Amino acid sequence: MAAEVISQRGVKVDVYDSMPSLGRKFLMAGKSGLNITHAEPFERFVSRYGNRQHQIEPMLRRFGPSELRQWVHGLGIETFVGTSGRVFPVGMKASPLLRAWLKRLADSGVTFHLRHKWRGWTHDNALRFESPEGEKTTNSDAVVLALGGGSWSRLGSDGAWVPWLEQAGAGVAPLQPSNCGFDVDWSPHFRERFDGHPVKSVVLSFGEFHQQGEFIITKEGVEGGLIYAASALLRDEIAAEGRAVMTLDLAPDRSIEWLVRRLSKPRGSRTMAAHLDKAVNIKSVKAGLLREFLSKDDFANVERLAYFIKNLSVPLLRPRPLDEAISSAGGVTFESLDEHLMLRSMPGVFCAGEMLDWEAPTGGYLLTACFASGYAAGNGVLEWLESQRGKTS
Ligand SMILES: Cc1cc2nc3c(=O)[nH]c(=O)nc-3n(C[C@H](O)[C@H](O)[C@H](O)COP(=O)(O)OP(=O)(O)OC[C@H]3O[C@@H](n4cnc5c(N)ncnc54)[C@H](O)[C@@H]3O)c2cc1C
Repeated sequence: MAAEVISQRGVKVDVYDSMPSLGRKFLMAGKSGLNITHAEPFERFVSRYGNRQHQIEPMLRRFGPSELRQWVHGLGIETFVGTSGRVFPVGMKASPLLRAWLKRLADSGVTFHLRHKWRGWTHDNALRFESPEGEKTTNSDAVVLALGGGSWSRLGSDGAWVPWLEQAGAGVAPLQPSNCGFDVDWSPHFRERFDGHPVKSVVLSFGEFHQQGEFIITKEGVEGGLIYAASALLRDEIAAEGRAVMTLDLAPDRSIEWLVRRLSKPRGSRTMAAHLDKAVNIKSVKAGLLREFLSKDDFANVERLAYFIKNLSVPLLRPRPLDEAISSAGGVTFESLDEHLMLRSMPGVFCAGEMLDWEAPTGGYLLTACFASGYAAGNGVLEWLESQRGKTS
């Protein structure tokens, strides 16, 4: 995005990427439909950036959800708003968009250098690259780093940049998993039986967080939309307390009284599993979750059983590793950057995208802030070049 903003003003831009092709994570995001942004009101949209709202909001005011949709339309691809307010390109794929975009960049004079891994700076501040032709160095009037976070490293963003930025005087908050799954100490039987099962229509509560949705049981624990939505809070609790306990309501549309009434009906010769299914429609993985965490005595007491159907505690041990997460928290701190995203310790070097220290839930907020920060960095470069020209003339 920065390359686009800069090249549109006739400035020569070179883009370097370590991978053999560009935009691999963008293409991966396209596999789940490419949720590019969200159509909710702006005030609500900016609140998604939590304690970084203050830093992200000014960028979104210049290039936010509406501008991003216009930009997609400008590349010849229409967008639509899904039922949840999430915005997708028609076709729900990233590849046509990326293709059209790269063509437009190439047409405006941007040169791409693939298989060029940036390795920090030389002692006289030239950029160092590892390339198929060996080590190369290059100088430029300004640099935008958009190296991504540390998740899904096979797609290119491996977080190797952290020490080089620290050496350059930038503050870097440790990269951490965001929108991630968690480990749960499942019994061997539960793990075997329910790995891959979706748990649908439940409410997850944790502190102030209450949200209805679904998630997936994995061999190691839990993952999926509802877990990701609570993941920043759960991760921080584990960091502070050593573990976190989420509470599940397995029957959000039913009251405890209703459950007690239904479960109190004579079960005759039916097994407890059949009774749970027939009386309150709790079966399969939901019944398995109850078995996993409740004692025999809990099952024998209708009031307790009804209570736990509405308030099942699931202890989470640790977040899944960063490499598996949808995105990264942490990164270059905003205190290290000026309002144009230029490093205070290294004038002329700008940072953008997921490598900055912010996080947001899924829902299109990640890509939107990446685009917005690229737009801000691009404009920052133009202003910087202008100011430097003023000094030399
Ligand atoms: C499975 C999955 C699905 C997702 N779905 C969505 C979604 O639907 N909506 C949404 O908003 N977000 C989604 N995201 C998140 C979104 O894709 C990222 O937040 C976004 O791509 C980050 O953009 P970026 O340009 O900052 O970093 P990246 O897209 O990671 O790009 C960084 C680039 O820098 C290159 N690079 C890194 N280090 C070096 C180096 N040393 N030298 C040279 N090049 C280097 C990499 O090769 C890469 O091309 C998803 C992520 C994943 C993993």
